Amino acid sequence: MVETKVLTDTSVFGQIAEHQHEQVVYCHDHETGLRAIIGIHNTVLGPALGGTRMWHYASDAEALNDVLRLSRGMTYKAAISGLNLGGGKAVIIGDAKTMKTEALLRKFGRFVQNLNGKYITAEDVNMTTKDMEYIRMETKHVSGLPESMGGSGDPSPVTAYGTYMGMKAAAKKAFGSDSLAGKRIAVQGVGHVGTYLLDYLQKEGAKLVLTDYYEDRALEAAARFGATAVGLDEIYDQDVDIYSPCALGATINDDTISRLKCQVIAGCANNQLADENTHGPELVKRGIVYGPDFLINAGGLINVYSEVIGGSRQTALTQTEKIYDITTQVLNKAEQEQSHPQAAATRQAEERIAAIGKVKSTY
Ligand code: NAD
Repeated sequence: MVETKVLTDTSVFGQIAEHQHEQVVYCHDHETGLRAIIGIHNTVLGPALGGTRMWHYASDAEALNDVLRLSRGMTYKAAISGLNLGGGKAVIIGDAKTMKTEALLRKFGRFVQNLNGKYITAEDVNMTTKDMEYIRMETKHVSGLPESMGGSGDPSPVTAYGTYMGMKAAAKKAFGSDSLAGKRIAVQGVGHVGTYLLDYLQKEGAKLVLTDYYEDRALEAAARFGATAVGLDEIYDQDVDIYSPCALGATINDDTISRLKCQVIAGCANNQLADENTHGPELVKRGIVYGPDFLINAGGLINVYSEVIGGSRQTALTQTEKIYDITTQVLNKAEQEQSHPQAAATRQAEERIAAIGKVKSTY
């Protein structure tokens, strides 16, 4: 859950400077036991949007590191997707099972409200729709609400659609055609997004292999989508054309990379490359086309954005379809620059922020 990284300067401002954040807000309330950190990375393109995660961090430093890393990731995801959003994220420190109360969540909501819309929160790990309802009682700066409350509802189908679009664009680059008919595809993780993705892939006639941490879930999905279920670790050794990580981060690492037989990697998991600078170039060397994770899994954020701007599910899907073209652009750019797709995507996001920042410099 928490990324461990050796920081050169572990002071609070040292860390903030390293990740180049605009603002970090520490929230404390004695009565409810609330201890939270809101990280606002960059608001050049718009308000910083990102979910709130509740986690029993071993230390405050670990919580700070997590919020800084996650909020920075949101900036890039929004920027590359052409959204007018900045990057933010919040963490509440504590055990969600024992510490989460209505009062604590509403107190947190008041801190969000104090930021006057500079930060918009949403659901993340260990937060539920019900929790969002409590936060919403104190602030209107909440997104990703259920449809029954006028929100955009479950983002997973939209994330799956974007991942599917990104996969097709990567397939076109690798195989010369974006058809997935007959392609052997290994899906790792058949949860919310994985299941919707399997549906698209089955409909297109792909030959599916899958795995999940929960064996019954894997077997059920295999039966439903005509797939073969394999063991957790066996997924890396499958003789497939495409590997789709849809569970956890860092699955492309020193141990797994040499086992992969695929020509394309495209999945919805966040932070798939254990080390971008090592494994990004390594995939290029091995002739594997990688669909950058923060680009091809942006459908969920696009869905939430459509809620913020008053759009519909259809608006979100139309915008999400553009992930195909953006992925093609990024893959071509990486090739031209003799770089790797993750680096090219990051640069493209940074270029948009810089360009729009200049537009905004005039009143
Ligand atoms: P989920 O919890 O519904 O599904 C994840 C699945 O992976 C679960 O079925 C779980 O049992 C399985 N899993 C866990 N560890 C595994 C392992 N080692 N090997 C195989 N399977 C394992 O989550 P989700 O909403 O489907 O999201 C999947 C991934 O996509 C996550 O990394 C999430 O951060 C990312 N993501 C999701 C969205 C979204 O809209 N839900 C948006 C962007 C990114």
